[in-house]
Amino acid sequence: MTVVKVETQTDRSAQVAQVIAEPKSAVLHRHLHHSFLSLARGQGSNLILQDGRKIFDASGGAAVACIGHGDGRVVKAAMKQMSEVAYCATIFYTTNVCEELCQFLVNSTRGHMARAYIVNSGSEAMEAAMKLARQYFLEKSPPEPRRTRFISRDQSYHGITIGSLSMGGHKYRREKFQPLLLDNVSRVSPCFPYRNQYRGESDQQYVDRLAAELDEEFQRVGGDTVCAFVAEPVVGAALGCVSAVPGYFKAMQAVCDKYGALLIFDEVMSGMGRTGTLHAWEQEGVVPDIQTIGKCLGGGYQPVAGVLANHRVMDAFEKGTATFVHGHTYQGHPVGCAAALEVQRIIKEENLIQNVDKMGCLLSQLLRQRIGNHPNVGDIRGRGLFWGIEFVADKATGTPFPAQAHVAMEISEMGLAEMYSIAVYPGSGTVDGANGDHIILSPPYNVSAEDMRFIADTVARLIEDFFADRA
Ligand code: PLP
Repeated sequence: MTVVKVETQTDRSAQVAQVIAEPKSAVLHRHLHHSFLSLARGQGSNLILQDGRKIFDASGGAAVACIGHGDGRVVKAAMKQMSEVAYCATIFYTTNVCEELCQFLVNSTRGHMARAYIVNSGSEAMEAAMKLARQYFLEKSPPEPRRTRFISRDQSYHGITIGSLSMGGHKYRREKFQPLLLDNVSRVSPCFPYRNQYRGESDQQYVDRLAAELDEEFQRVGGDTVCAFVAEPVVGAALGCVSAVPGYFKAMQAVCDKYGALLIFDEVMSGMGRTGTLHAWEQEGVVPDIQTIGKCLGGGYQPVAGVLANHRVMDAFEKGTATFVHGHTYQGHPVGCAAALEVQRIIKEENLIQNVDKMGCLLSQLLRQRIGNHPNVGDIRGRGLFWGIEFVADKATGTPFPAQAHVAMEISEMGLAEMYSIAVYPGSGTVDGANGDHIILSPPYNVSAEDMRFIADTVARLIEDFFADRA
């Protein structure tokens, strides 16, 4: 690939020439005319560009790189697997690594989940979860074939394929494909304490109102037509690390139980240790019937994701046709499984989830000290090493910047300029699916206190400079 030196668009980043990939690329990039920084390698928490400049990966990509980059132990495990069995046609065979990974996952739920299903992306995991839920109602005795619907939440993201996109409430990503999307998904309000604060409700009143809204939605569409209620326990990309208020998920599960529907948790972004426990549901006092996992399963070393189903679901299959009518050429991929197993072994042996908790507390304190009073920082929220910063035009009223201002995207692009050299993950649409900006900080689990100070100081400088430039 040709590498050229050009100047980037923002004022500050224009002060430094950056090494980027040739804009006339053969790659169908997301933005065809955008210039992308070209990576040479990854090393721990740093990404190294072709010109040798280091960028601190404070978001681990899209909250993926949970043990950092370039870990030779994972490379070795994946290569060993590739040299033994690189591919497995799961219609005929299984492999030890796939069996071992699924057993590890099932054991990690302390007996709640019965089986695991390994795929290659979060979107595939969500598609499989939808089909598992639908087929469950055909397998159970007596079967309930009328159950074809799903209820999810506004301002949510569950993937980019047609089924998973249909489930999500991400306006921008859905808009152009609306005529292709499924019409058997409806949505209720998310649980978003920061944006609800202006109503003056107690947590309990808020929970009661949202439970009543879900109940009404079940009644509106017909309680016996719904397969599942689908939600992210801590909302990642769509809202920016938003946890529900205490008691919310228990109340939602009670509504699902009332109508005999399943509860599906999408833990693709928030799961596998990211929020301070291996499974995000461990902090909610509820266990979903089906859960999806993704990013921090393989930490980016291989494309690997998964679905876990509990005994209620699997028992129906056992007693029914004992066949899940679904499958991908690359499901249960041995190299993906080997990489994931090694990543999970490292997380366990190095007590990294404890570090997530400890470093997350420190990061939250430092962020609040440094930018808590900034007039354009509306909220700092999160759990574990999963922190969102929401930007507002008016702190007192929470008024967002308009979508056209691209505040979050421009902050994250400016962060890549040499004087900051930090990667943060941008997101928009927190208010109504269009307006409202946030960035996500989700560094690797093995960061140090010094790394936390670096992130907080650099992000503070970035935010101060960005808004000072605009004033
Ligand atoms: N679900 C959630 C909560 C996600 O954050 C994402 C991706 O960001 C997905 C599903 C889709 O995963 P993938 O991009 O691997 O298909």
